[in-house]
Amino acid sequence: MQKITQAYLEDVLQKSRPYSQKGKVASYIPELSEADPTTLGVTLIECGGESYSAGDHEQTFTLQSISKVLSLLLALEDQGKDKVFSIVGQEPTGDPFNTVEYLETEAKDKPFNPMVNSGAIAVSSMIKGRNVDERFGRILDFIRQISGNPNLTLNEEVYQSEKKTGAHNRSLAYFMQSIGILGPEVEDILDLYFRFNSIDVTVHDLANIGCLLANRGKRPGRNDWLVSEKYVETAVTIMFMAGMYNASGEFAIEVGFPSKSGVSGGIMSLVPGQMGIGVIGPAIGNRGNSTAGVQVLKTLSDDLQLHLFRDR
Ligand code: GLU
Repeated sequence: MQKITQAYLEDVLQKSRPYSQKGKVASYIPELSEADPTTLGVTLIECGGESYSAGDHEQTFTLQSISKVLSLLLALEDQGKDKVFSIVGQEPTGDPFNTVEYLETEAKDKPFNPMVNSGAIAVSSMIKGRNVDERFGRILDFIRQISGNPNLTLNEEVYQSEKKTGAHNRSLAYFMQSIGILGPEVEDILDLYFRFNSIDVTVHDLANIGCLLANRGKRPGRNDWLVSEKYVETAVTIMFMAGMYNASGEFAIEVGFPSKSGVSGGIMSLVPGQMGIGVIGPAIGNRGNSTAGVQVLKTLSDDLQLHLFRDR
């Protein structure tokens, strides 16, 4: 089997670069459309072992939908599983991430799961705090802790832009208010959601978070649990089923480990007990995932035999 070395990771990255031509940068807000589509960077951290980075690994980008895993974890810590899943489902979906149709026509009940926008907005309402600032402060602290990076901050331009152009997310939230999933504080919940989508990170941060989840909620080599093991299990299972938008099934078959992508082109992945991986490639395909980023993960999965259901 292939051994992980610096030269190997650089080679994977170079061979994956052409795949960025198969995608386009997200353009729904100006800040994202300014990203360079040829950027590609990766960090891989072995649980309790070595860390390797290649390409544009120092590039910062906003968490976007990757934040959905983190808000879910904090909501679970705050309210427990029964309460969180009383307002959001646990089922995968073939619909796009911002679907409004399902809420309207079939369920009239709850969003599919915490990885689609409606689900993540509903989950945001479960994060404790007296006001938006306090709730955001708690989630930022939480992400700083699990990434091990105390310097993470909000990208103010992206946040303002998300807020200004958030009509679709507003419509989801107000619809959920109309069917009783959300209460009167809809604008505050949206504000919180826009803020945690707009936290700047690098692939190192994502790989560190992946590593913590791969280690079931404990920082490798330390004994304190930063997240409860049972909630890591829940969040990681949902990532596996629904973390790659409506390409989650194909990704689970072809790559085979839990991952969550975002429209800025980031992907946070983990191989349970083994490693955390962060990738950035802002050119995304028609189902929202970084085209070159997915190629990096697929190559790593094949070469290092990381697929969870392959004989290892
Ligand atoms: N801020 C984006 C939205 O809510 C996040 C989308 C994404 O990364 O999937 O529309």
